[in-house]
Amino acid sequence: MSIELAPDPEVADLAERTAAFVRDVVIPVEEEYAGVTARAGDAVRVRLQQAAKDAGVFAPHVSLEYGGLGLDMRARAVVFEEAGHSLFGPLALNCAAPDEGNMHLLEHVATPEQKERYLRPLAAGTVRSCFAMTEPAPGAGSDPAALSTRARRVPGGWRIDGRKWFITGADGAAYAICMARTSGEPGDRGGATMFLVDASDPRMKVIRHIETLDESLFGGHCEVVFDGCVVPDDAVLGEVDKGFAYAQVRLGPARMTHCMRWLGIARRAQDIAVARAADRRLFGSPLAALGMVQQMIADNEIDIAASRGLIRQACWELDNGRSAAQAGAMAKTFTAEAVWRVVDRSVQMCGALGISGDALLSRFLREVRPFRIYDGPSETHRWAIARRVVSRHLNGPSRSGA
Ligand SMILES: Cc1cc2nc3c(=O)[nH]c(=O)nc-3n(C[C@H](O)[C@H](O)[C@H](O)COP(=O)(O)OP(=O)(O)OC[C@H]3O[C@@H](n4cnc5c(N)ncnc54)[C@H](O)[C@@H]3O)c2cc1C
Repeated sequence: MSIELAPDPEVADLAERTAAFVRDVVIPVEEEYAGVTARAGDAVRVRLQQAAKDAGVFAPHVSLEYGGLGLDMRARAVVFEEAGHSLFGPLALNCAAPDEGNMHLLEHVATPEQKERYLRPLAAGTVRSCFAMTEPAPGAGSDPAALSTRARRVPGGWRIDGRKWFITGADGAAYAICMARTSGEPGDRGGATMFLVDASDPRMKVIRHIETLDESLFGGHCEVVFDGCVVPDDAVLGEVDKGFAYAQVRLGPARMTHCMRWLGIARRAQDIAVARAADRRLFGSPLAALGMVQQMIADNEIDIAASRGLIRQACWELDNGRSAAQAGAMAKTFTAEAVWRVVDRSVQMCGALGISGDALLSRFLREVRPFRIYDGPSETHRWAIARRVVSRHLNGPSRSGA
């Protein structure tokens, strides 16, 4: 089946307007704060989001009903790449992780009442949220089945106890979507449930910011303790014991949107390196005329184009109701590694300037590295990709690969 890659004229127009907004409004703010959103603070987030609303580029992924622009996955691929051209772009458009993935999950799984209470303000940028799944060892990580946080029945609701870490955006979030075990034991494949926990509950405690290589995701990466947190029955998101299935509803598209945003940064790194290579003269010629630099420029271009192709394939499958498990895993693994290569080569082409704080390249390098770990480490995806291929071999050919 053929895939149409050219975006609709309306999507192309939105992508152009997003690119102009990021260039003219967002990048100056990003440069002012050296790409570190925490240095900017919430007032800057609110100001940038108002500017995005005024420019008509706000919340491209959210349905019209909740104030967004209603883009499907293929259209998001085009627009998010433009938003991702700046570390502050996704925040400005309200399509940054983890809020963007949470909005997608709530749109698909929440009750009408939950949507009004949790999705509407999140989509409007009035509040932020977090997604609390990962736990310190021996709990949930690459293997979600190790989930150890417990939710036990109490009259009228549930009591949640457990410890989470690397919870992006937890500091300042209005609520967490918390994965807890409602049946079975750590190691069991089922038995997880998602809960909407208000951060105003004093028994949900953000106990520390974990110091990390990256600093551009708003609200930091936090350790969070649920210490006898009692929530009512209507805090259950979806059905009890179906949390792992809902996690896939969130993660399938969320992996792709992370790829789209980081592809924007890879392109920006390439732009910076090419401008420098065209300008800088070495050994009697422009740097860009030297063969080994040309190879780096070409390899960057190939990595960017190949990532884009894989992302759009997976998006097409998602838009057509497929799970895109294989296509998504391949796109995620390749893109996470490709954007690292692109930024690393771009640093190399810029020499000492590349690793200095004078160019944002060194910041980009720090920001893209963790992407090979979150949303599934490369090794977990390769393992799953290979298992599907072998299973296809054993059970007969499947043309979809999904
Ligand atoms: C910057 C950042 C932000 C994050 N934000 C969030 C968040 O908002 N919410 C949340 O819940 N979590 C978040 N996480 C956690 C993230 O989802 C986990 O780090 C990830 O799932 C890996 O789990 P782990 O760190 O426990 O590593 P482990 O599960 O301990 O894995 C360690 C290593 O084992 C290797 N490995 C894994 N599987 C295989 C395999 N099948 N074969 C061979 N080797 C393998 C990989 O190299 C992997 O890196 C974030 C992480 C980072 C770094």
